[in-house]
Amino acid sequence: MATDTTVTGSDEAPDELESSGYRQPEIDTAELLALLDGRYSEVRDLVRSNLTEHASVLEEAERLGTDDYRDRVRDLVVELAATGQTGMGFPSEYGGGGDIGASVAAFETLAFGDLSVLVKVGVQFGLFGGAILQLGTQRHHDAYLRDLISGRTMGCFAMTEVGHGSNVQALGTVATYDAGAGEFVITTSGPEARKDWIGNAARHAELATVFAQLDVGGERHGVHAFVVPLRRDGEVLDGITIEDDGLKMGLNGVDNGRITFDQVRVPRENLLNRFADVTPEGVYESRIENPNRRFFTMLGTLVQGRVCVGGAAINAAKVALAIAIRYGDRRRQFEATNPPEEDLLLDYGQHQRRLFPLLARTYALHFAQEVVAAELHQVFSGLEAGEEARRRLEATAAGTKALGTWHATRTIQECREACGGQGYRAANRFAALKADTDVFTTFEGDNTVLLQLVAKGLLTDYAGAFEEMDQFGMVRFVAGLAVETVIEKTAVHKLIERIRDVLPGGDEWDQEAGLLDPNYHRMMLRFREEHMLAGVARRLKRGIDSGLNPGEVFSRVQDHVIAAANAHVERIVLDAFLDKLAGLPDGDLKVALNLMCDLFALTTIEADRAWWMEHGRLSVTRSKAISREVNGLCRKVRPIAVDLVDGFGVPREMLRSPELLGS
Ligand SMILES: Cc1cc2nc3c(=O)[nH]c(=O)nc-3n(C[C@H](O)[C@H](O)[C@H](O)COP(=O)(O)OP(=O)(O)OC[C@H]3O[C@@H](n4cnc5c(N)ncnc54)[C@H](O)[C@@H]3O)c2cc1C
Repeated sequence: MATDTTVTGSDEAPDELESSGYRQPEIDTAELLALLDGRYSEVRDLVRSNLTEHASVLEEAERLGTDDYRDRVRDLVVELAATGQTGMGFPSEYGGGGDIGASVAAFETLAFGDLSVLVKVGVQFGLFGGAILQLGTQRHHDAYLRDLISGRTMGCFAMTEVGHGSNVQALGTVATYDAGAGEFVITTSGPEARKDWIGNAARHAELATVFAQLDVGGERHGVHAFVVPLRRDGEVLDGITIEDDGLKMGLNGVDNGRITFDQVRVPRENLLNRFADVTPEGVYESRIENPNRRFFTMLGTLVQGRVCVGGAAINAAKVALAIAIRYGDRRRQFEATNPPEEDLLLDYGQHQRRLFPLLARTYALHFAQEVVAAELHQVFSGLEAGEEARRRLEATAAGTKALGTWHATRTIQECREACGGQGYRAANRFAALKADTDVFTTFEGDNTVLLQLVAKGLLTDYAGAFEEMDQFGMVRFVAGLAVETVIEKTAVHKLIERIRDVLPGGDEWDQEAGLLDPNYHRMMLRFREEHMLAGVARRLKRGIDSGLNPGEVFSRVQDHVIAAANAHVERIVLDAFLDKLAGLPDGDLKVALNLMCDLFALTTIEADRAWWMEHGRLSVTRSKAISREVNGLCRKVRPIAVDLVDGFGVPREMLRSPELLGS
């Protein structure tokens, strides 16, 4: 039993809990902070102190005009670069820190502050710098890295177009090789091919990494990236038209723009040629023969951005929770239990119900993020090699990014409401938090599309032939002749076997295990994942068997695909939390985090209880007991809730909210 061994299905008040043998843990917030900060506590502290030093930007964001705010954000990004915090992931020979894990930690921590600064950093160092580093070779590194790391050269990452955001393979910008001149000619092939939403483009970028269809001698080789100068001395260059995307819902300190290229010529050497090159004579060369595989290998190297956005979203949720929970611990409404004194909001069961499950999920996602960031570090530092490790990383990154960003959106809204009217004041942070994090669900991969990638990865595990596909590729695969045999002989069969393994007792599986038994939580989440996945595979096969158009088959099962991916990610999030707990020494901190883990697991089950009931894994009685248990857990969390948010280590200056929190 995770939390304690004496209380099951309880909804006792704290004093009753005491008398039942439960001992309230006391949290040492410094110890908690050290645990959460992990191996990069120094890096996180550097970012905290930079955030505090430049805290005025939070207030400036509210009063500066758009251009001034954008320039202020740019200047701040350059100042931060000088401290080393934004260049940690780059090789040390170019002035970077040579530590990928550190760069993720720095980025996540930056999310405690102004999110335009965060996103500008993400664009400059993660997207633009990341493309040069990962897709380029030494000549590009020598030419650009040092200046982009210092912020002397500002750049942008021009992938998305008006016509295509998620479906990158279908981009319309063309780069045609002119062998006579030894140049590529970059052209926007029509209105749909105009680059759109490109961060840094509208005002500051001098260079762009432009993603375009490579055409050599009339033959197309798919999407490749090119370094294209956009401005010199602030002036937009000939052949390039840049428009401002205008006022956005949030992130208005970032200058998003639209770019059109009219026969823009760049030297042959500007092709970022790590995975493919064109000889001066015009011969296309790549060590990866399969164009699909080449494309996904190329995109796969850019996974760090996704990992970073997921982590940033989770940290933005921490800011919201820190404000709402501390406010709930001060704010009184109604004389409910001890007239004439009014009760604290946080003592109300419903207030606890609204905030504590979100707090628990934040903890769960934090530890899942820690795992994915560590995997990223391993793979990209060459400590873990192989296709399998990369594929796993890409799937996990996609999944945690989707769940983390959706979680932020939901949490920030709930926390805003939990602060009542005060939550609506800009100075209390929620206005910016809501508006700025909203789009995290869309950029760095739309969440719904990402979950389809996760599902693709899972199906790949069962049937090797699912490799190298985007969500449309999966449809094409389903249309392939091999599909029936593959699904029949491998996927479904293996899935059923695996379900038997997971649930050794079959239908006699112990459904009456203790509600706080971590194995029970794990089994429930694994059962749902495996069952859903098997269901998807069966439905795909059935659809094909019945002669339906494969696109139609996929579309009909798409809700099931997304649900299976979501179930998978929730399971790995739980696993990450349980694994973390297993490594902790016994003591109060472990007891407190066990409470969080139990609450995460049970509220996850509770939220989808209809599914388990439909599938015979949850009785009505037990379902009700879970809700009672959740209430009981919330009561246990109440006395340590403020400590649990203090442990996040959000600098006081970042919380602002003088009326909510006191000075
Ligand atoms: C503020 C901001 C900053 C950005 N910065 C950059 C940048 O610096 N560089 C850059 O290149 N791009 C940038 N982008 C673009 C961003 O990456 C894209 O918006 C994103 O990839 C989604 O593409 P889209 O907007 O075309 O949406 P679409 O792909 O058209 O998606 C629209 C909706 O359709 C759904 N959908 C799409 N495909 C499917 C499917 N197969 N099945 C079911 N549903 C589907 C999606 O879930 C989504 O809800 C930025 C965008 C914004 C808003």
